[in-house]
Amino acid sequence: MPGLIDAHIHLWGMKDNLLTSGIPVFEDSMIQAIRGVMDVWKLIDAGFTTVRNAGCIHAIHLRNAINEGSIIGPRILACGRSIGRTGGHVDLPHVPLEWWDSKRNSITRLADGVAEIRKAVREELRGGADFIKIMTSGCPRKDDDLTRAEMSPDEVRAVVDEARLAGVRTAAHAQCTAGVKNALLGGVDTVEHGFALDEECIDLFLKQKTYLITTLSIYYNFFTKGPGAGAQESAVNLARKWWEVNVESFKRAYRAGVKCGLATDCLGEPMFPMGDNALELELFVDQVGLTPLEAIVCATRNNAEALGLADKVGTLEPGKCADVLVIDGDPLEDITILRNKKNIVTVFKNGAEVPRLGPIGVRGING
Ligand SMILES: [Zn+2]
Repeated sequence: MPGLIDAHIHLWGMKDNLLTSGIPVFEDSMIQAIRGVMDVWKLIDAGFTTVRNAGCIHAIHLRNAINEGSIIGPRILACGRSIGRTGGHVDLPHVPLEWWDSKRNSITRLADGVAEIRKAVREELRGGADFIKIMTSGCPRKDDDLTRAEMSPDEVRAVVDEARLAGVRTAAHAQCTAGVKNALLGGVDTVEHGFALDEECIDLFLKQKTYLITTLSIYYNFFTKGPGAGAQESAVNLARKWWEVNVESFKRAYRAGVKCGLATDCLGEPMFPMGDNALELELFVDQVGLTPLEAIVCATRNNAEALGLADKVGTLEPGKCADVLVIDGDPLEDITILRNKKNIVTVFKNGAEVPRLGPIGVRGING
């Protein structure tokens, strides 16, 4: 089968609990990038031959190290830093500005109004971004108002316009109706997460042929693993509530014929370990009701189209890059086969056999 694609992850080398650390800004990016070296190997070892990183500069360097042959990992599409508004989701309004200003540099940046946004896009492109990621809404947490969008359609249009000048695509984090709508009105190529879609949103998706990159794993992991990882009960309950909204919304969009990719929003250990990404395919089947083949198509062909890589990966055809998995078992019968690395016999990327991480990994060696 074709190599799998995860269209939204974060290679920022997190090895802490997101719920206690807030966001991985308490460490030097050097140690985070070093962890990332192992994380990218875990991803390709799990059959994910392409991933798209949705915000942090670590992935730019990991991509370059992979492409120059220094380390083993998947094809990476990286966006550099995500772009958000002052006082919005990535501005962490609950922490002191001076403190956050000194920490946010490797992950995100702020831009307000069309002129600043154009400049921010150009700077991220200068830094090596393959695509541009923006924030048009908050997320389910107490600081964020999910009745409101965080960027205007005009601001989104400026992002899209600048990105198209450079020939790259755009992705919008949008976790509420208003945020999704402004992202769509502004013309982004992919809507990430895409919660709480109303009929107008679904019509816009269909009319503009925009891709929905939903991310079920993240909230699923939050409420299933959170209690054991020290998460507060209120955070676990919030995750469960939004998981339900997400599943319901995704079901309607898929059935209506919206083009859908597949992604995990994998953030790192301990709740979101790299290499466990095939969980998302299981959730598509068990929770949303897709067939195993439909889930695999979302994770391969559809993702390749959404990312602008359809001429290279996503299907097994002459002239493509030969990202191929040899699987022991039939995932069309049992989708859970893909999450057990024992069943992934061989991984090829660009036609070359990928050295495997082994059953133990460094963790076993080092104790
Ligand atoms: Zn994300």
